[in-house]
Amino acid sequence: MNGASLRRIARRSLLLISATLLTTAPMAYAEHQQIIDVHRHAAWPHTSDRNNFRANVIKAMDRNNISVAVLSISSTDQIERWVKRYPGRFIAGPMLPCPENSGHPRFHCFESNRGLPELDWLERQIKAGHVGVLHEMMFNYDGSAPADEKVQPYWALAAEYDIPVGVHTESGPPPGGGLRSDPKCCPNYNGDMGNPELLRPVLQTYPGLRIWLQHVGSDGPGSGFWDETLALLADYQNVYLDLTITNSVLPADQHEEALRQLINAGFGDRIMFGTDNIPADTILKRYEAIEWLTPTQRAAILHGNAERFFRLPPQ
Ligand SMILES: [Zn+2]
Repeated sequence: MNGASLRRIARRSLLLISATLLTTAPMAYAEHQQIIDVHRHAAWPHTSDRNNFRANVIKAMDRNNISVAVLSISSTDQIERWVKRYPGRFIAGPMLPCPENSGHPRFHCFESNRGLPELDWLERQIKAGHVGVLHEMMFNYDGSAPADEKVQPYWALAAEYDIPVGVHTESGPPPGGGLRSDPKCCPNYNGDMGNPELLRPVLQTYPGLRIWLQHVGSDGPGSGFWDETLALLADYQNVYLDLTITNSVLPADQHEEALRQLINAGFGDRIMFGTDNIPADTILKRYEAIEWLTPTQRAAILHGNAERFFRLPPQ
């Protein structure tokens, strides 16, 4: 992200903090100042404008004190409609590789280039400060590995411009869940591609690359690729994580257990708050309800860790 974008975000944060002080908007989370949602998706391109979707996203962010969301986009025009339309509110990045979809060439996502954003376009957006991440990397859905030849130029670009990369990990969603609720979705789906271990060749090539593992714990804390996740976090200080799906779809006690194990393992400073488009207030209530979580730990999860990882000014 360039200086202009950071300044815009800083300005926006100040405005939001002033607005919060002047209104009686929900204050339950006021102690955390502004919250950063590190995992959000724009709607599929053909549905973006239906039912005031974008305006409602902004309203929900404001209601929950979310100043910035890290937004996955799946078409080039979403730069105009999301990033430029709401300056400072979104750090955008392209979804890739977009999965196959029987009966439709790709999942309504970067269709002109076989489910990958054009590299020239992407580099221009990064230089202009309109794209600040790659997110969400969809290896499970595509059935391909992070080491696959076709994604090598994207890892290289992220490393060259030093932008973070969000990777869908764990084995889910199960058949019928998430995008897989669409019967046409993803004939090549392969849950094994969500093993964080598969990111090691990438990190060996680009050891300083910032990667955040998404959906950590969603196979159940201690199950699935839990050990591989902890091992990668131990080996790379620049690997962070979000607990999306674990913090909403899984029962609250499993979310709490995942959190406990991660903090006990020494990774409390790498956990970042994310929604994956599930209403933020239900997830925030869970964080409020965990009594053993200290205010410092909670604040780190809700914004401090993300500020450091995405190099944002303090919210
Ligand atoms: Zn995902």
